[in-house]
Amino acid sequence: MDQYTLLKTIGEGSFGRALLVQQESSHHKYVMKEVRLPKSPDGIRNSRQEAILLAKMRHPNIVAFKESFEDGHLYIVMEYCDGGDLLQAIKQQKGNRFPEHMILQWFVQLCRGVKHIHDKRVLHRDIKSKNIFLTQHGHVKLGDFGSARLLISAKANACTYVGTPYYVPPEIWENTPYNNKSDIWSLGCVLYELCTLKHPFQANSWKNLIRKICQGSYSPLPSQYSYELHYLLKQMFKRSPKDRPSASTILSRSSLAKYIKQCLPAEELADFEEQLKKEAEGDSNNLLGNIPEGDLEIGKEGNLPYIAQRKKWGSGPSNSVLNCLENASILKSSIKAEESESGGVIKFNESRSRKQWVKESPETLLNILMNADLSFAFQTYTIYKPAGAAHLSGPLSDDMDAQDTTDSREEDIAVDQERFEPRSDEEDTEFEEEDDDPDWLSALKLMVENQ
Ligand code: ADP
Ligand code: MG
Repeated sequence: MDQYTLLKTIGEGSFGRALLVQQESSHHKYVMKEVRLPKSPDGIRNSRQEAILLAKMRHPNIVAFKESFEDGHLYIVMEYCDGGDLLQAIKQQKGNRFPEHMILQWFVQLCRGVKHIHDKRVLHRDIKSKNIFLTQHGHVKLGDFGSARLLISAKANACTYVGTPYYVPPEIWENTPYNNKSDIWSLGCVLYELCTLKHPFQANSWKNLIRKICQGSYSPLPSQYSYELHYLLKQMFKRSPKDRPSASTILSRSSLAKYIKQCLPAEELADFEEQLKKEAEGDSNNLLGNIPEGDLEIGKEGNLPYIAQRKKWGSGPSNSVLNCLENASILKSSIKAEESESGGVIKFNESRSRKQWVKESPETLLNILMNADLSFAFQTYTIYKPAGAAHLSGPLSDDMDAQDTTDSREEDIAVDQERFEPRSDEEDTEFEEEDDDPDWLSALKLMVENQ
């Protein structure tokens, strides 16, 4: 700690602060994330995950870990990215679109970073333009591992899906298993933002945001962009996770080869091509192919846990949220309130339990969301609803009233029917977590109960 001098605070959030510091001996600048440690042992373990997982990564497109220590708080020292974040870069464009080659140069670097973490069986779970950092040299680095989790980790992991609603894939809203492809969806949102300077899914309420995400209803990319970009995005926004390409599959697209070459030193290029070739060959492509059979177990000395048998999930995508939304008007708060006789003040009857949650998860979710103040959403959520504003707004939302085209669909909104057609990419889907995951409903319940 003493070896660093504080230069300034560069970020502040519910976790604590991000500080720009200088190492006295080397004069190098670093970012030191100061994380408040919760009281509970589980909470402490959870916070440490960020440092543990970031430390596992070593890749030019992932923010480099330097060290971490505890001194009342948890401190994570990492590489300083001096070019700001991608969200800032998008905003700075002030409506002028990026040229395609620039988008693809960034995108390929991002995919390489994502491939690296998925190869290590880690899910980032909060990929968004605000968590992607730039350097003055034009390098792109994925950061903020505060929501990251090890895949197939044992029970400790069976809790919430933390994420930012705009970037959250359909499977999360449908409460079906999530895996590496959930990060691919979020990465698709970032790709879309790079092309249009807007969020792909914008709506005037939680309900419509969820509906748009589940329907995959987004305005098409501007025609200035190539077929390749349109195609890529369409694949990444497939409703069913198994139909989305993995990061390796994306990187193996021939149209991206020249961008990969640009960002790789020659000696690495040969290795990388070799690796992609191997991965494209049959079973060796299986991301868990090198994992021995056996029950779910945690390896010794912090080795990754193994899973023996692939879990079989119900075939075909669930329509539950969509069905539920069709009847949305009959959904209402499950909080029972009685009006006070003296006026309009809502008084809860204390003799009765205040909150009763229905069992069906999508309905429950919607009920919860209807009662949830958006600002109470998980810490990493960046959605906010300014007082008096009628629509949800993210950092790239239009200034004028957000159009809500979900109820009466407009012509320029593409609902991609192909997304519902099967195109199994089994190779990429062996990554699933415990089937009691994700139980983020419990977390939402807690959140609302603590409101
Ligand atoms: P949070 O969990 O609050 O989102 P982040 O890790 O994203 O935490 O850090 C918060 C902010 O601090 C970021 O949005 C960014 O502005 C800044 N920041 C974090 N890490 C870095 C870094 N390595 N280089 C430059 N800025 C960073
Ligand atoms: Mg962040």
